[in-house]
Amino acid sequence: MYSVRMRAEKGGRHISGAERLVSEEEIQDSVQSLTGRALSHERGKPDFVNISVEAVKSPVKNLASLPVILHNAGNVMEGRNAARRTLEFLGIPGFCIQKALSLLENGPSDGQSMRGAIIMDMQGNRLEPDRERGVRATRMDITEKAAGELTKSLSGKGLSSYFTHVKEALVLATKVASIDGTVAELCWSDDPYYTAGYVASGRTGYIRIPYLKENGDSNGGRVFFVDNINIPGYINEIENKPVLIDRFAGIREFTDFHTI
Ligand code: AMP
Repeated sequence: MYSVRMRAEKGGRHISGAERLVSEEEIQDSVQSLTGRALSHERGKPDFVNISVEAVKSPVKNLASLPVILHNAGNVMEGRNAARRTLEFLGIPGFCIQKALSLLENGPSDGQSMRGAIIMDMQGNRLEPDRERGVRATRMDITEKAAGELTKSLSGKGLSSYFTHVKEALVLATKVASIDGTVAELCWSDDPYYTAGYVASGRTGYIRIPYLKENGDSNGGRVFFVDNINIPGYINEIENKPVLIDRFAGIREFTDFHTI
């Protein structure tokens, strides 16, 4: 298999990134569609686009996706509370949750977005070696069959227009949750018109929260909360371990923490 990755920048700042894990026959199509993505992002026209194609040497791990749980928060305050409560339920100390929320709210890299994620331990320390770049989860994708099941489920919930966002986030969250030492992930997009985000973990599934920021706000990011990790080993798994989601674990509405 081949890892095909795209990143786009403008004036040295990150605009967008995406990737696929494909067979040799699919390389050309994926290069074309990722180029299209790079050139038509809401964050602006890039002046630098990098597309790389690389053979994946280590064995690909097949995984079932996390289940998708739809939270019904009606505004940002309810959404942030839902995220806070879920992270508390997972045992993350309150001061770490507060620090993570304010980093994403204010732009984690001196008021700007990072290309990758923050790694935060249970003492609130940031463990990513480069605070501008962060750590990027790569070498992951979803099979057409599993993606088809996700499409069907989202359309049953009136969420078809969010398919690409949810698909890519679910793939990333499933991979990150599968790695030893991950306690939870918090994410909201830096795309100014995508207000939804999520908290994900192996214990709770992928809890999609429709409002984690106001429309028009271009701050966002990701935090991987970790416990007891060997930092280089953890980062190596996040970046390099190839993961293919080949089953979709279903979708349901959030009711309360006792049912997850
Ligand atoms: P997005 O959901 O693509 O809008 O990304 C939101 C934020 O998540 C970005 O600003 C980055 O900080 C981070 N991010 C995006 N892609 C990745 C990735 N592959 N691995 C880790 N963090 C990422």
